[in-house]
Amino acid sequence: MINIPEKCKLIFNILEKNGFECYAVGGCVRDSIMGTVPMDWDFTTNALPDEICRCFNDFKTVDIGKEFGTICVVIDSEPFEITTYRRDGDYSDSRHPDFVSFTSNINDDLARRDFTINSVAYNEKTGFVDPFGGVNDIQSKVIRCTGVPKERFTEDALRILRAVRFASRLGFSVDIETSKAMHLLKDKLSLVHPQRIRKELTGILMAEHAPKVLNEFRDILCVVLPEIEPMFDLPQSNPHHIYDVWTHTLNALGNAPSDEVVRFAVFFHDIGKPSAKTTDNLGIDHFKKHPYISAEMTADILRRFGFANSFIEDVCLLIKYHDERFRLMDADIKRVLSAIGEELFEKLMSVSLADTLAQSDYQREYKLSHRIEVIKRKEDIIEKGECYKLSQLAINGEDLVDVGFKGKAISDALNNLLKLVIKGKCNNSREELLLCAKSLPKEAWNSEE
Ligand code: ATP
Ligand code: MG
Repeated sequence: MINIPEKCKLIFNILEKNGFECYAVGGCVRDSIMGTVPMDWDFTTNALPDEICRCFNDFKTVDIGKEFGTICVVIDSEPFEITTYRRDGDYSDSRHPDFVSFTSNINDDLARRDFTINSVAYNEKTGFVDPFGGVNDIQSKVIRCTGVPKERFTEDALRILRAVRFASRLGFSVDIETSKAMHLLKDKLSLVHPQRIRKELTGILMAEHAPKVLNEFRDILCVVLPEIEPMFDLPQSNPHHIYDVWTHTLNALGNAPSDEVVRFAVFFHDIGKPSAKTTDNLGIDHFKKHPYISAEMTADILRRFGFANSFIEDVCLLIKYHDERFRLMDADIKRVLSAIGEELFEKLMSVSLADTLAQSDYQREYKLSHRIEVIKRKEDIIEKGECYKLSQLAINGEDLVDVGFKGKAISDALNNLLKLVIKGKCNNSREELLLCAKSLPKEAWNSEE
């Protein structure tokens, strides 16, 4: 027995009243058996797409892939996907079926699904339909391919990464045959469209069991992220570290909160270390400028997968500033606040905590109390409304135009004035700022070219 929300009961009732079968299927059944509340409910039915639309003509329906049999029905502004039972044709490109065909047999539909834990259907009338032992695998916490693993991964290589994602999220182990096939066929992941990989990668990094699972399947990750390989087992012989770069990264990720920008920043924060590494004549390793290298590498990686530009920018700013040694001066804190903004500053503090806790005990007390002091001072700056951004400056571009500034020189001058205010070299008052501006050499008043 699983708990079915009222809106879902309505879906069953409407389809059944019209003479069709209908089951909840996939993640919602799996999560319900595990005792967690599903994020969304998916349904499968022997009704054809047009028939689904007809049954739900009192509701808004959206055709989100009729050729694959999926109709979205909106009930009280909540969308539900209903898909016709289907069989997938051959996968000649290891990416998608050459064709799909509808079937009237629920078992055929369950057979095309990726893992036994996702191949269980349920409705209140019939109970579980479980031809592949999925309920047992959910209870034993095992991820196992539905059918022959090598065939299933050859059909659609993305399933290799889906298995990693489910392991990472659910904390399940991967069945040995399934795992062997994943390692064996991992190179086929290079055939998968980067946008599909993006979703799985995000799911893996966001999940609770990510550190352990990323390590277990690190060879697989390397196919889509070859840049991580040089981190594996790379020693960091200096007092701050007890782990190699990869192990440190995974430990830091384990300390990171559930925020996408923070987790991506933590996962990639040291990816530039291998190329930044130098060893001095005392045998101490240094990684100078690694935050910049990491940020650049991460931008390239995230672009490759089609992440949104604003996301890439935020992740890379956090990486660039992750190792910032704040001197306890307000000017220093304002400089970073001005570069990344208040919201990212808070995230930066999360990155820094995750990072510190994955280092050695050396200076840990100092690092942690220093971080708290930085947060306090930052809050103080915000509370007192002290100036750290252009919008808080007591003059604006028009004021500079009025005294004779032109073109790009206006924003250059404003930025320079902001720097002076942040450094405490000029008060944030209209009079003083205008005086400062006017004292700039004449060639800085007009740099239109
Ligand atoms: P989540 O809770 O993360 O959404 P889910 O199991 O619902 O997990 P979805 O990606 O939403 O995962 O897919 C819904 C269902 O469709 C899966 O449970 C699985 O049965 C099937 N499925 C999805 N992608 C594939 C695939 N690439 N190959 C085979 N079956 C798939
Ligand atoms: Mg789902």
